[in-house]
Parts: sequence; structure tokens; C-alpha cells
Amino acid sequence: MTVSPARLTVLSGPSGVGKGTVVAEVRRRHPEVWVSVSVTTRRPRPGEVDGEHYLFVDHEHFDWLVANDGLLEWAEYAGNRYGTPRGPVEEQLAQGLPALLEIEMQGARQVRASAPDAQLVFLAPPSFEVLASRLTGRGSEPADVIAHRLDIARAEMAAVGDYDVVVVNDDLARAADELVLLLTAPPAG
Ligand code: ADP
Ligand code: 5GP
Repeated sequence: MTVSPARLTVLSGPSGVGKGTVVAEVRRRHPEVWVSVSVTTRRPRPGEVDGEHYLFVDHEHFDWLVANDGLLEWAEYAGNRYGTPRGPVEEQLAQGLPALLEIEMQGARQVRASAPDAQLVFLAPPSFEVLASRLTGRGSEPADVIAHRLDIARAEMAAVGDYDVVVVNDDLARAADELVLLLTAPPAG
């Protein structure tokens, strides 16, 4: 991968659209791509590894990180808190290397406010119906949590205009390749 100017790219989009899946595919095809590992107060799902999928922390630790400016952004989402550790992202960019964040949309807005040069990528489902069936098909949340996430997703879909680029997650390999191209694309303008 050719590395042009250090660039912070944010991949966001409604829950269930496939952000985690697309990022995993990016890492499989392009292991050199650096992806931030978030902290969360959510409990691990079966198969999730601490330090790899997330840094799983308790509420006290999360409060400490917020109070000590340890997070680049953070948000409460569906009853849990999630945040991006600031240090590793800053180190990556300081070395002139691209950094990728996979975060929900309140966090994306905070990044836009604090780092106006960041590139905001909206991962869109082919349709709302496909989104609902992916979220249900993942089978990782009970029905009430899915309903809550779909309510959030409806509002989130309306915010697509706040983003620089839209990538449609229909074909996984194509969406992953499109994202990798964006990571190394020179800033527009
Ligand atoms: P998110 O991280 O945005 O919440 P996930 O990555 O967990 O979403 O994906 C939600 C579900 O959709 C998963 O079951 C995943 O396997 C499926 N999925 C993701 N991308 C695609 C795709 N391009 N085609 C078909 N199914 C997909
Ligand atoms: P999940 O519980 O499904 O792993 O994640 C729920 C939502 O939190 C997803 O939309 C995911 O992108 C988002 N998320 C994960 N890490 C972060 C983070 O560090 N900051 C923010 N704002 N959202 C995050």
C-alpha cells in the first residue's frame, strides 16, 4: 500500500450495516492497515478477545479515561459506552501513517469537530430491509435490543449528508477494497 499524507479515516454507519465485517475483510486482505481498538463497557460477546476486538473495561476505568482526556471521542450507545483511545491514533498519524476508526455516528461527529481534516465514510446498507435482516441474522442481541438499534438506525440513515463519502455494503470484497482506496487517497481539494 502506498502511504500518502497521514490521514484519519472514520468508518461509520448504522448498527448491523456491516462495519465490523468490512473492517475484518480489510484486515484480511490488507493486514498492513492499522485499525484503532476501542474501549467499551459492553460485555464481550462469545469469541471476542480483550485487546483485539475491544479493550473491555468497567465504568470506573471508562470514567478515568474520560476525565484524563484519554479518549479522542466517546459515546453512549444502546446502554453501553464506547471510546477511541487517543494515544495510539496520535502516534500512528505522527508517523505519517493512515489510521482507521470504526465507530458509531455520535463519535464520528466529535471527530469531525476536533479533526476537520478527517475523512468521514458512511457505510450504507443496500436498503433498510437488508439492514434489519442483517441485524436480526447476526443473532447476537435479544429482540428488544435489536428493536432499539433499528430505531437508532432509522435516525442515523438520515444523517448520510454529514459524510464525505458513501460506500454501499452490498458486495463485501468490493466495499473493503473501496475503503482501502479511500484510506490512502489524497485529501480532496
Ligand atoms: P456492524 O458492525 O455495522 O454492527 P456487523 O459487521 O456485525 O455490523 O454485520 C451485521 C451482520 O451483517 C453480520 O451477520 C454480517 O455477517 C452481515 N454482513 C455484513 N456485511 C455483509 C455483506 N456485504 N453481505 C451480507 N451480509 C453481510
Ligand atoms: P457493538 O456493540 O455492536 O460492538 O458496537 C456498537 C456500536 O458502537 C457500533 O456502531 C460500533 O461502530 C460503535 N463503536 C465501536 N467502538 C466505538 C468507539 O470507540 N467510539 C464510538 N463512538 N463508537 C464505537
